Amino acid sequence: MVEEKQIFTALKEYFGYDTFRPLQGKIIDSVFEGNDNLVIMPTGGGKSICFQLPAILLPGTTLVISPLIALMKDQVDGLQANGISAAFLNSSQTEAEQQGIFDKVAKNEIKLLYVAPESLQYIDALFSSGNISLIAIDEAHCISSWGHDFRPAYTQLGYLKNRYPSTPMIALTATADKATRKDICDQLNIPNAKRHIASFDRKNLSLDVRPGTKKFEQITAFLKGRKNESGIIYCLSRKNTEDLAAKLQSKGYDAEAYHAGLSHTERTRIQEDFINDKNQIICATIAFGMGIDKSNVRWVIHFNLPKNLEGYYQEIGRAGRDGLPSSTLLFHSYADVIQLQKFAETGGNSQVQLAKLDRMKQYSEALSCRRKILLSYFGELITEDCGNCDVCKNPPEFFDGTITAQKALSTIFRLKEQEPISMVIDVLRGAHNSNVLEKGYQQLSTFGIAKDISWRDWQQYLIQLINLGYVEIAFHDQNKLRLTSLAKKVLFEKEKVRLADVSHVEITKEPQVAE
Ligand code: ADP
Ligand code: ZN
Repeated sequence: MVEEKQIFTALKEYFGYDTFRPLQGKIIDSVFEGNDNLVIMPTGGGKSICFQLPAILLPGTTLVISPLIALMKDQVDGLQANGISAAFLNSSQTEAEQQGIFDKVAKNEIKLLYVAPESLQYIDALFSSGNISLIAIDEAHCISSWGHDFRPAYTQLGYLKNRYPSTPMIALTATADKATRKDICDQLNIPNAKRHIASFDRKNLSLDVRPGTKKFEQITAFLKGRKNESGIIYCLSRKNTEDLAAKLQSKGYDAEAYHAGLSHTERTRIQEDFINDKNQIICATIAFGMGIDKSNVRWVIHFNLPKNLEGYYQEIGRAGRDGLPSSTLLFHSYADVIQLQKFAETGGNSQVQLAKLDRMKQYSEALSCRRKILLSYFGELITEDCGNCDVCKNPPEFFDGTITAQKALSTIFRLKEQEPISMVIDVLRGAHNSNVLEKGYQQLSTFGIAKDISWRDWQQYLIQLINLGYVEIAFHDQNKLRLTSLAKKVLFEKEKVRLADVSHVEITKEPQVAE
């Protein structure tokens, strides 16, 4: 049995720390007891030590299954720099190099061996050549198609437990929703794994969501008080990253684009410059960040809506790993929702993906504490409002919006539920554009009944009516707005509607996250 003293000596000697972060000590004890373990911890929570420290003290080699071949070398270099014998094995190596690794494992000279899931064919040879003490599955959510980053090669990992039942396994991920959690254990054949679920509450991250209009102006305003602070701007497309980086550069910002279309050397260079504070801003697709260990990222902006809350949470989690206050800002727009819907519909498992996107959308449109919504999604209930999100800092004022709602709902009714948001607003505001006139909508009795409310405010009110369940969007039918049964109560039974006052939401003003 490993003694506590040995554990703390190794923690200090190899990692330079005196104490554990929450759960690390308990997880490590459980590994030494020989249990299978499932670790759910947010990005930056300190998952690596949970298998790296046991690896050092266990008698044989720990296999680490990790999806990112590109980062294996960095991970291994980092470990070696700390005096830990580590290596990786993947298909990019020559046979001689691979043989060299097998020999070292046989001589018990390697404590941590990183293996790509695509290279499972080496596993049997490794087991027969040496003493394998532990199998760690990093980014374990990749095994589940319920998760947000499914990798087909991971599905073969179930084989490991069947073949080597007595070798303990530790699966680690930052993805925590319940369905994925269970799926991971089922697929890895570790139904009795001890589960360790760390708090996902990252109090040092402020949460801010704003309408995605005039995004560039909003970003430059945001950057004003942030000279030399490192940050990441996540975009949906490669082109977005390049356009935005170029625009920022033309304004004198130190920004670079990063996406999977760049060469490996270029990507490595950009990552390293970022880690070493040689470039300040990375405009990136979600390809950027996994496995990057930079503790002083001070802010993360989502230029586009992420496709689900897991991805969003993981990406904002790259800010403030050092625990210091850091800002996050998400722009939401209907154009993004619609595009993401198309992606979700054409990808696999589309019903689940659409439902997840819906949660993302509800989060971004919410008028209650965002952290509450986010944490409850991950199964963690907090009773108090957080005080560090835009809704808490700037709570909406509610007003009796019954008349406003009636105007909107009756317009949708008169349009026979055949038009999307934009047309509904045009009719409410009495716009004389060709679309309206061609369809003869100027004849409707509700044409122009609400000119006093601006286009943008109407958009906000309609979103609220959607959130409140009076209206739904027919995603499969050109995003036409339809009335739900609740709407009838407002139209015909005088039910009151409470709306948040949005007329004061001035989106061009200086951002409030900056303090
Ligand atoms: P994760 O894999 O969960 O995203 P990491 O294992 O990369 O997180 O750890 C995140 C950061 O926290 C790293 O910089 C790591 O060195 C640091 N860290 C981990 N454990 C501790 C600890 N016990 N004390 C101080 N810092 C720690
Ligand atoms: Zn809050």
